[in-house]
Parts: sequence; structure tokens; C-alpha cells
Amino acid sequence: MNVLSALSQTDLVIIGGGINGAGLAALAAYSGLSVVLFEKGDFASGTSSKSTKLIHGGIRYLEQGRLSLVLGSLRERRHLLECAPHLVHPLPFLLPVYRDDPRPAWKLKIGLWLYDLLAGPRNISRHRWYSPARIHDKVPTLRGQDLTGCGLYFDAQVNDARLVLENILAAQQAGARCLNYCGVTKVESAPDGFKVRYRREGGSIDGTLHTSFLVNASGPWANRTSEILPTHPQKWVRPTRGTHIVVPQVLPEEAILVQARDGRVLFVIPWRGCSLVGTTDLDESGNPDTLQPMESEINYLLKEASRVLPSLDWSRKKVISAFSGLRPLAWTEGGQTSSVSREDRIERQGRTLTIVGGKLTTYQTMARKALKLVQEALGRRKASHGFPSLPGTPQGPWGPFLRDTVSRWRVPNRVDPTLPYHLAKLYGAVGEKVLDLLRNDEKLREPLFNGGQDVAAQIAYAVREEKAVHLTDLLFRRLELGYGPHRWGPVAETASRVMARELDWSEEVRLAELDRYRKELFPAP
Ligand code: FAD
Repeated sequence: MNVLSALSQTDLVIIGGGINGAGLAALAAYSGLSVVLFEKGDFASGTSSKSTKLIHGGIRYLEQGRLSLVLGSLRERRHLLECAPHLVHPLPFLLPVYRDDPRPAWKLKIGLWLYDLLAGPRNISRHRWYSPARIHDKVPTLRGQDLTGCGLYFDAQVNDARLVLENILAAQQAGARCLNYCGVTKVESAPDGFKVRYRREGGSIDGTLHTSFLVNASGPWANRTSEILPTHPQKWVRPTRGTHIVVPQVLPEEAILVQARDGRVLFVIPWRGCSLVGTTDLDESGNPDTLQPMESEINYLLKEASRVLPSLDWSRKKVISAFSGLRPLAWTEGGQTSSVSREDRIERQGRTLTIVGGKLTTYQTMARKALKLVQEALGRRKASHGFPSLPGTPQGPWGPFLRDTVSRWRVPNRVDPTLPYHLAKLYGAVGEKVLDLLRNDEKLREPLFNGGQDVAAQIAYAVREEKAVHLTDLLFRRLELGYGPHRWGPVAETASRVMARELDWSEEVRLAELDRYRKELFPAP
């Protein structure tokens, strides 16, 4: 059976369901093109769920004088805070300065002032400056020796995997067909376009589709993808690996940004009741499908974090989990990884287009640039409708939505009364649909683990509405529990049972799913 049974022809095929593919699919479908997106794994299973999870202007680029890059990113930050408040929220950053740092306090103060200025009148909040004594009172665990002061400024944190997912769902609402676990295997030239061959996971289903235009949005896989296209194979990306570790919570509210001894930037960020520490930046030429954190990276992160917060225990046993992603940086020959441009590269060759580089933060700008080139090639320039709103975006501002709307969401007896807020923060306006499921089915009220707020209804919702196919999709990306202290044991057991019920899995399949999930956990349980 062909997975796209009734469809044999489309305007646009997109290869890759990370943020760049998903964003372009949403915009292109909303502007009236017929779109099919193929993702060989789960949506966001590549780099787009392995980021530092920041929507940021990139304060460090100020030093390199790249004001327009920072200005553009700050504009996007403001826009995403407004249009996806359930996924993107403000995050304060502490910026301690030590006597031996290459950047003295006066230079940082100018940088923070400029960052506020570029953020404009709708800035999150203005920066502050703390003396060593005041910052010691606020964060006693911060190394005090040689501290000359500490800045505090604002950027934003994002749920990266769900930002991708909501773009996929928005694309579908606008008429696109988005398929996960369906990889493109070969593209051949055909009259007025291309013949695209695709294969469903497991190799059981093969199909072909004719498209007028093709986009390579396969991020770190872009070089490999170029080899299956009829155009001349080309090096599009120079992937660099970035690893994060998850450790017990260091600070509940503020993130810390410091310069590591080798000049890289180190973040310690509050995340899901833990702290995220990252990241590394090393050239990587291996297969993106088998990327794993390396012990040397984990040791590096522990060592650098212990320099900033020396009174805390940074031994290896404190690492709850770790994950690695590949930055799909636009190809350049030689030079240090940190000096490779983070800017995007969007290039059309006839009726194909490749979109690489950039960041999560700027995905909408990149999608707009890409769509313009696609429309030009197809001779379909139309007035842009802009981006469709995301499924979870509330109608009004976030504060009143939480206060007035969510407080009216009805919770059945014996269910945690704070559940509506938990669901609203994860799903935004559609959180009430999850509540509907548990109102109608008592079995879906089961908590996933003691002391946690997630409930079985979220699993049913992920399967029925969010295209979760495997246990890994659910635990790593729809709920992100796979990175926290409850990643194994009762959570996996309960989640696999609920998924088995939803998807009619035999016991054999359920155990195979548990095994597949366990193999992806790092470190192994
Ligand atoms: P991907 O997300 O990798 O998506 C490409 C997809 O293509 C994959 O899912 C893959 O499975 C699929 N694919 C490949 N081949 C095929 C095929 N043949 N058929 C079908 N599908 C295929 N940006 C920020 O804004 N803020 C941050 O804090 C930030 N931190 C980062 C930290 C790290 C460590 C890294 C690595 C990046 C970070 N970035 C950040 C950058 C950002 O994450 C990336 O620029 C962005 O996620 C790239 O998205 P993408 O869609 O191009 O690639």
C-alpha cells in the first residue's frame, strides 16, 4: 500500500522534519502550496531536540560586530515570546566576570547595554549589574575568588521538540501531509520536476511521488541527502557536535553563562526541575544516525562547571543523562569550529533548494526566505499570509489566559487540581483537550510516576493527536521525561502499557519498544 495512496503529484516535497523543514512546511502550506514533508525518524529527532533550548539574540556575536545578526534574532525572540508563550518563556542569565577573564567588566557592561538597546522598547527586561558581595548573597555557590562583578540579562527558553511538533501540526492544519518514519531514498529527474522515492520504516512500504519542487532540509544529513538527488553532490554542511549533560538542579530560576578556559561558552540552565550544562563544539564527520555523547565531553563539561560552582558535587555519578546534537553549520574549509559561521545558507539550484545553518531562533526568517525562492521558481508569487498560528497559541496574552481561562478548566474529583496549569504550560490552548480525555476515561487519570504531574491522558493524546509512533517519541520528545531522574522504571513501564493499549501492541511489541527506548538512554540504566 502507498502511504500517500490518493496523492501522486505535489507542488513541494520537503526532506527533513526538524525545525527548518517543519517551519517551511507550515508557511508554504498556509500560503497555498500543496506540501508533503518526509521525516525518516520522528519529527525533531535530529538536531532540533538536542539544542541548548534557547531563543536568543546571541549576545556573544556583539563582540564580533555582527549587529544585524543579533538584531534579527532579537526581533525573532520578541515575536516567538508573543506568538508561542506556552513554548517560549523569558529566562534570566547571570554573567559572572573574573579577574583573569579575557573580557573585563567594563566591556561586558557595554555589551549588555547594547543588547538591551537592540532589543528595543519591547525588551523582556533591562539588564542589572551586581557587585561581588551582592551576587554572593544571591548565589552563594558561585565561585567568589577573583570575582569582579556579575551581570544579569534576559533571553528566552524554548521547548525545542514541541516547537517543531507544533509547526508540523500547523502545517497539517493548513493542508500539508507530514509523515514521520518515512525517509526519502532516491530522487530522479522527471518532466516538470522530480520523482521522489520514499520508504516507510522497516522497509515494508515503498512509494513514489511526483513533485514540482524539492527542498533539502535535512540539517546534518544535508551532504548525504545531496548524494541521492539528481543534482551534482555537494558539501553543504560542516557538522560540529555539541553535547549537554543533565544534572540535579543548580539554580531554580537563573541560568549561568561563563567562558570556559578554552574560550567556549558554557551554559548552566534550569530545565525540567534539573540543570542542563553545555555545550561542546567539535568537528564531527561520523554518521549522524549513531551520534552519542563521549566520555571526554562529559568530563570536560563537569570540569568547567566545577570551576564556576566549586562547592557543588560535579562527580560523574551526578550525571542523570546526556545528549548530543550536530550543528548543521554552512560548509567552510578549515578554521576552528567556534569560528565557523552560524548564519544560514539558503540556496536554490533550478527546482531544488537547500536550507542549512541558522538557529532555532531564526527559523521563521529562514522559512520566509526559502518560500520566496520556491514561489519564484514555481512562478507563484503571492502576497504572503505570514505564519499560521501554532495549535497551542492562546487567543489573548499569556498571563490572562492562565489566570482567567485555565482556572475555569474543570478537573474531575481526585485529580490534582493544579493539572490544568501543568497542561496549559505544556500544550497551551489545546491543554483542555488532554483534560477532556481524562474526564471521559478514568484509566487515563493515572499519574506516570509518584510526585510528578504528567498523566496517562497525555500519552493517549500524543498517540491520537501528535503522531507519536514509538515509546521513544513519547518519552524523549512529546514529554521529555527520558532525560530526567524518572527516565527509567515505573515511567517507562506505565507509558509502554498505555501506548500498548492505544496502539494495540502485543506484549512482544511492548517489550521490544521498551528495549528500543532503553538502548537510546544515555547513560544506560
Ligand atoms: P534537524 O533538526 O537535524 O532536522 C533534519 C532532519 O532531517 C532530521 O530529523 C533527519 O532525521 C531528517 N532526514 C535526514 N535525511 C532524511 C531523509 N533521507 N529522508 C527524510 N528525512 C531525513 N539554536 C538556537 O536557536 N538556540 C539554541 O539554544 C541552540 N542550541 C544548539 C545547541 C547545539 C548543541 C546544537 C547542535 C545546535 C543548537 N542550535 C540552537 C541550532 C539549532 O538547533 C539548529 O540550527 C536546528 O535545530 C537545525 O534544524 P534542521 O531542521 O536544519 O536540522
